[in-house]
Amino acid sequence: MRIAITGGKGGTGKSLVATALAVELAKENKVLLADMDVDCPDDHLLLSIHPKKEKDVMITMPKRVNEKCIKCGKCAEACQESAILFHKETGPKIIPDQCIGCTACMLACPVDAIESEQVSTGAIYTGSGQGLDFVSGELKAGKKESSPVVNAVNKYISEAGKNYDYIIVDTAAGTHCNVIAALRGCSLALAVAEATPMGAHDLNLILELLAELKIPAQGILNKAGVGKRELAENIFAKNNIPIYGEIPYSLEIAKMYSQGVPALVPEIKEIAKKIRREEP
Ligand code: SF4
Ligand code: SF4
Repeated sequence: MRIAITGGKGGTGKSLVATALAVELAKENKVLLADMDVDCPDDHLLLSIHPKKEKDVMITMPKRVNEKCIKCGKCAEACQESAILFHKETGPKIIPDQCIGCTACMLACPVDAIESEQVSTGAIYTGSGQGLDFVSGELKAGKKESSPVVNAVNKYISEAGKNYDYIIVDTAAGTHCNVIAALRGCSLALAVAEATPMGAHDLNLILELLAELKIPAQGILNKAGVGKRELAENIFAKNNIPIYGEIPYSLEIAKMYSQGVPALVPEIKEIAKKIRREEP
């Protein structure tokens, strides 16, 4: 069973829930924790796991424009990233820092004048610890397009997933295409929320996205006891999402978090029990 831990806003406690839940489930089940926040993966830090590089994630990038170029400008027209400067006398000039490797320019070129090369845009890391297996993707610093790395982690999960009872997917914040890619294939999503105006706003966005993707969702109210509880409750109710569990705002949890210790509090144990009762 693949379960997404998501929540819209950053800082709501997705990683805290994902790591603690994965460790708790791993006490009785085979668990793979997948950190798909590829811009900033940090679940391994919370679990004191030291992952090793599994492989680079390669993408096709334009390398140079050769002498076949007829200076038609079609490559610059095709580039949505403004990564090609074009002048009818000097021809196209590729700006590598702007390029995301979509290959549209190469497809648009009528004379095959754009040569390509394979470059690393990030990597997949794997490791084990706390009774579970771990995989994460990490985008290289300065790279703009993270979807190839998310897709590579998805491929790893598809190949390795049959060996596990539970795959816990920790998504990035937001509702952008990488979050959508991480959510695909999940049969349940736990939407972690906090009771603040910004939290409620972003919670609504992620619940709408989950409905759009037809992924059954349940709510987790984190930092319960601070903020205006009804802010989150109203959004869950509006989207017909039951509150599956609550995690209190506590000094004990904050200390565990800061020390890289999974927050195995009774509320997490309760959520794990409920998950074991779910249909696979
Ligand atoms: S690969 Fe895509 S982003 Fe890069 S220069 Fe070509 S069209 Fe632009
Ligand atoms: S599309 Fe090809 S031929 Fe036309 S300007 Fe670009 S590189 Fe040159």
